[in-house]
Amino acid sequence: MKFSLPDLPYPADALEPLIDVETMNLHHSKHHGGYVNKLNDAVKSAGLKTSSIDELCQNITKVPESVRASVRNNGGGHWNHSLFWKILTPPGKGGKPSGDLASALKRDLGGYDRFKESLTEAATSRFGSGWAWLLVDSDGKLRISSTPNQDNPLMAGLVDLSGMPVVGIDVWEHAYYLKYRNRRPEYVAAFFDLINWSAVEENYRSCRDVASR
Ligand code: MN
Repeated sequence: MKFSLPDLPYPADALEPLIDVETMNLHHSKHHGGYVNKLNDAVKSAGLKTSSIDELCQNITKVPESVRASVRNNGGGHWNHSLFWKILTPPGKGGKPSGDLASALKRDLGGYDRFKESLTEAATSRFGSGWAWLLVDSDGKLRISSTPNQDNPLMAGLVDLSGMPVVGIDVWEHAYYLKYRNRRPEYVAAFFDLINWSAVEENYRSCRDVASR
């Protein structure tokens, strides 16, 4: 299959002033777009048969060695950014966790405030480029992790903690450097005011259902 760049679910300036329009445009069209193009090149050159980007990430250790690094980096990049755009919304419009998700945050991570502290710690302490995650593990529990580069929790066999990602925060400098310069903690703090909790809750329910199968 050929992968394509998904449209942003809002205008590129919708996350102003917390994420500026120039960063959004570059990040979406050049960075995410670049991952999609390179992923398609790798899939084509190896003649890979694949039905979805999820499947490709979950079976990363079975991808032929000649293109595995490229699929890991660019396929991971495509998957991660597709999630990232989806879970953001204009500042102050995202609500708060509710229902099953709020209960699970309390049960597994000690509640929203503790979750925020743990994800912030994972995001700010990731050395160099990478991501921090809220995920559902194979026991159906919410956990926090972080991965280097474009790895993600779907990549069983490559990551320390595998599972289904529910929230991902991009801590590559390209995600924040124009506005926040070297101040990653300020960008991470802003991220929490941009989370679309209804999208996250929907995502949580489908991840939990997969984990319980
Ligand atoms: Mn990025």
